[in-house]
Amino acid sequence: MTANELTIVKSTNLKPKPEKDQIPFGSTFTDHMFVMDYAEDKGWHEPRIVPYEPVTLDPAAMIFHYGQTVFEGLKAYRADGDRILMFRPEKNLERLNRSSDRLSIPPIDEDEVMNHLEELIRIEKDWVPATDGTSLYIRPFIIATDPNLAVAPSKTYKFMIILSPVGSYFSGGIHPVKIKVENEFTRAVKGGTGMAKTAGNYSSAYQAQSNAYKEGSADVLWLDGIEKRYIEEVGSMNIFFKINGEVVTPALSGSILKGITRMSILELLRDWDVPVVERKISIDELYEAYERGEVEEAFGTGTAAVISPVGELNWQGKKMTINNHEIGELSQKLYDTITGIQRGNVEDPYDWVV
Ligand code: PMP
Repeated sequence: MTANELTIVKSTNLKPKPEKDQIPFGSTFTDHMFVMDYAEDKGWHEPRIVPYEPVTLDPAAMIFHYGQTVFEGLKAYRADGDRILMFRPEKNLERLNRSSDRLSIPPIDEDEVMNHLEELIRIEKDWVPATDGTSLYIRPFIIATDPNLAVAPSKTYKFMIILSPVGSYFSGGIHPVKIKVENEFTRAVKGGTGMAKTAGNYSSAYQAQSNAYKEGSADVLWLDGIEKRYIEEVGSMNIFFKINGEVVTPALSGSILKGITRMSILELLRDWDVPVVERKISIDELYEAYERGEVEEAFGTGTAAVISPVGELNWQGKKMTINNHEIGELSQKLYDTITGIQRGNVEDPYDWVV
């Protein structure tokens, strides 16, 4: 056996599966996980599927001190005939490597990891919930493990994949939410780490998010960090607007995460001949279009909710009510198409599902 052959140790102590499919996000984990280690002389080695268990790390492990870590988020869905489908998983592994590059973490072999991920899902297939809107959330991540306080890249890493059954994001169907346009805090800047899925981008957003909750909003709309004018993302989602018949989404500037839902929506809209552009769009421009009555729809996009319509934007005392707090026709069509493809209910002419 070579150091790169997958080994599998099955758990002898299987956990009870959640009874209902109304499971709070990210708090229940399956019986097994995937683990692989990196060392300079061996590269990534010893891929293994083992019983889910805590990890023991030295308190000096670099992940704890300088946050050298990346992660991904994708889902497996139960389709007709009990097939288990993943939505464009290769794009997540590609993005994991782009994030790793930004954080000076060595790349994984995407094809090998894809095979290991498929094997893990096969072993855990009974954990994929069946009810509409539910799925098995897949969380691959890498942490720096050198016990060393030097401010320099680690020489050893651990790559893991854990799985968590999740309930429907929207109980009772999708509904438009209220969003605060954030003027004080910044999520990311050009040249920073905004294009990477790394821990610090998320913990540094909590303060703005909790202020928004206190003001009765569900999340924040992030503006660029320099001029505080250009729209970037909404919460942990990409953002789209339909203005006077044309769909606009902020161009990837380096500070915006390249969402796989975003990419899929752009591809769908182009295929449907709906006018769509990726460009800079400022909050002033949006407000002016709003005052002219031209903002027809607004929605966030991401793996968690697929489409999350925005019903209201609050920007420094100015309120924009979008589409009368109702779900737009295009938002609904995109939601139905993507969730249909993910669940195998709608034909997948793009070969998106695996
Ligand atoms: N922006 C951020 C900051 C995110 O964390 C996510 C979720 N991965 C997204 C956008 C949406 O990306 P995706 O469509 O790949 O889930």
